[in-house]
Amino acid sequence: MPEFPEVRTFINHLKKQHLLGQEVTKVNFIDPKVLKNSNPKTFSNFIIGEKFEDIDQIGKLIVISLSNDKYLTIHLRMEGKLFFVDSSLKPDKFTMVEMICGKKKLIYLDFRKFGTFYIYKSKKEFLESDEVSKIGLQPFDHKLTASYLLDNFDGKSQAIKTTLLDQTIIAGIGNIYADEILFACKINPLRKTKSLTKQDCQNIINACRRIMKDAISHSGTTVSSFAFAPSHAGSYQKYLKVHTRSNQPCTVCKTKIKKITVNGRGTYYCPRCQAK
Ligand SMILES: [Zn+2]
Repeated sequence: MPEFPEVRTFINHLKKQHLLGQEVTKVNFIDPKVLKNSNPKTFSNFIIGEKFEDIDQIGKLIVISLSNDKYLTIHLRMEGKLFFVDSSLKPDKFTMVEMICGKKKLIYLDFRKFGTFYIYKSKKEFLESDEVSKIGLQPFDHKLTASYLLDNFDGKSQAIKTTLLDQTIIAGIGNIYADEILFACKINPLRKTKSLTKQDCQNIINACRRIMKDAISHSGTTVSSFAFAPSHAGSYQKYLKVHTRSNQPCTVCKTKIKKITVNGRGTYYCPRCQAK
């Protein structure tokens, strides 16, 4: 959490609020722990006077292009949030950084404080960074094909659920959508990755795209505290078929949804529809 659809929802909302074109005039650090390759002084020198030129995502990573070929990446991790609000709004106890742009400010809040900010002085530095260069293909990338998945699944004995969470293969799938995708494909979350067929791989891609698109159209899923703006939450949780639904009847066969742990992650599935 947040996964591809929730990150997309933040970005869509920030664009709607006219973040792009705004110039950073001041930075307030309430908790600079979020800065991973800078400190308050170097971060301020880096960003003050620059404009937000574009905002996009690579999987779960938010990528902000700034003027002068600079880049700022923000990873929300568990509970990070990025809001564009009136500068007069007082920071709350979860606010970590405020980037002031005249009458508005871009604020980063995170009650778990696991989020990360990285700064890059050029597009080249950004693309070649460890953070970015290892990220796999995004759900809607045309290079994401059944053959690509089959190659990446080859020789892997680990559970397919664990592999779907591997951001170096498909970027943007997290715990919620991995469960939903496997249910849609009738694949058991514990199945060995290498046992998947080319057809299974194609089914995963199709389900992934359909579910991500649906989730984006509902502004993402709110399971713990996701909100894409103060007091705005996503509603896709109403459409989840298995995730968080333990002991409730399967929407297809009425069997009770089971919760197990796969590689430390709570995993929900239908023991009948996803028998193998
Ligand atoms: Zn079922």
